[in-house]
Amino acid sequence: MPPVITIDGPAASGKSSIARRVARRLGCTFVGTGNMYRAFTWAVLNRGIDPNDPAAIVAALPSITFECPVSDGETHVRLDGHDLTPDELNSDAVNAAVSLVARVPEVRARLVADQRSLISLGPLVMEGRDIGSVVFPDSPFKIYIDASEEVRAARRRAQGQADNLAERDRIDKQRKSSPLVIPEGATIIDNSAVTLEEAVEQVIAALRAQGLP
Ligand code: C5P
Repeated sequence: MPPVITIDGPAASGKSSIARRVARRLGCTFVGTGNMYRAFTWAVLNRGIDPNDPAAIVAALPSITFECPVSDGETHVRLDGHDLTPDELNSDAVNAAVSLVARVPEVRARLVADQRSLISLGPLVMEGRDIGSVVFPDSPFKIYIDASEEVRAARRRAQGQADNLAERDRIDKQRKSSPLVIPEGATIIDNSAVTLEEAVEQVIAALRAQGLP
């Protein structure tokens, strides 16, 4: 099996930016799984379904077609034949509903199966909340990215987004189905006080220490 580097962490911790750069440096395909949950949330909202109604979400799942085409070294999300834009994926409505949709076990089962199948692309850097704990628990290459609450909130404000990070983290950590945890064997890297490039170097050094050739 090609190597999978798993990168998990809380909302706005900087893990997508770090993971994308690590993937480029190592020649791996970058997979951001947050956008997959965001795409399903967009589909739920677009169908007029209440994100607090798990039965209605489960009933809609068979009608949702989902693909992850690859371009520029990373996967993208295509939902019901529509390439979702960053504005659609990061809208205030999606930010507010995504943790509610992501806590539905049937949604997770479907996306975890898709995520595992991406190994056919070759070596991966995959980031999310449950990649090292549930999606690829046997990977020897695991990183957990963290940053202080103040730094994470400031980064989101700088992106001009309304996003209740504390509430998302609370739901993500407390849900029954694959909650956000620090995976066993993961190296924790706090990037509150370092630059993006420094964080990337720290991640690559930690992966080498974990045995990455
Ligand atoms: O990473 P991002 O903040 O875009 O993720 C959006 C939401 O998707 C998270 O708050 C979480 O509810 C959900 N998610 C998840 N499992 C993953 C990735 C994201 O539950 N592997």
